[in-house]
Amino acid sequence: MTRWRSEVLLEVKDLQVFYGRIQAIRGISFSVAEGEIVTLIGANGAGKTTTMKTMSGVRPVAAGSVRFDGKDITKMASHKRVELGIGQAPEGRGIFPGMTVRENLDMGMYLRKDRKSGAAAADLERVLILFPRLRERINQAGGSMSGGEQQMLAIARALMGRPRLLLLDEPSMGLAPMLINQIFRIISEINAQGTTVLLVEQNAAKALKIATRAYVLESGEIVKTGKGSDLLNDSAVRDAYLGGK
Ligand code: ATP
Repeated sequence: MTRWRSEVLLEVKDLQVFYGRIQAIRGISFSVAEGEIVTLIGANGAGKTTTMKTMSGVRPVAAGSVRFDGKDITKMASHKRVELGIGQAPEGRGIFPGMTVRENLDMGMYLRKDRKSGAAAADLERVLILFPRLRERINQAGGSMSGGEQQMLAIARALMGRPRLLLLDEPSMGLAPMLINQIFRIISEINAQGTTVLLVEQNAAKALKIATRAYVLESGEIVKTGKGSDLLNDSAVRDAYLGGK
């Protein structure tokens, strides 16, 4: 029992979230174990982004609890969560447009005590190997890059904080098909290198392919859960979210 608990990195219980009187999340429970890629899939308005905002601490919780590594973080401020090891690459990217790629990446490390050390330099090299495009653009202003490149920069910046859990909200949104495949490959690679991932995606087919486990959200409730590969072959999921393909 104790052993199982230590493997659960993120544990959400009976979560409820409101926008004014509108209840967006209606008592959902889910967990992410160390080493997993867990994805939340669902139609527009199902509550995926709201759930992610609650995990990153930018939306308050009305009821329920969120635990990270056994610690109650339900009411913890966003920056404190980053310090604890929850890295965030928000929907809409949120990079610093006036700063260069290099400066953006440096910002990703500002909460790290070892940011002047060799470990930090090694991490920079690691993300530039994952994202060769960013190496080519290292001195370019973040805001002058394409949407896809900015998305990569947002993920790379989050990785510079050496998160234990990486929150990815719609990383494929608005990207050209070739870049979409690349982003999913990179997410798998990041996970293989030891980072646990919680992924919110509208591109359910691609998300399920790389996910260890998945939860299906519908109108603020979890209606189904299972292994990514099982849900990919589930006929109801295929009809509702994979265009019946
Ligand atoms: P999408 O993929 O379209 O972003 P989603 O699954 O991420 O969908 P959410 O954005 O989390 O869904 O929205 C969940 C519900 O909360 C929806 O009914 C939505 O209309 C509502 N909602 C989201 N943001 C707000 C807001 N700022 N004010 C009021 N209601 C909101």
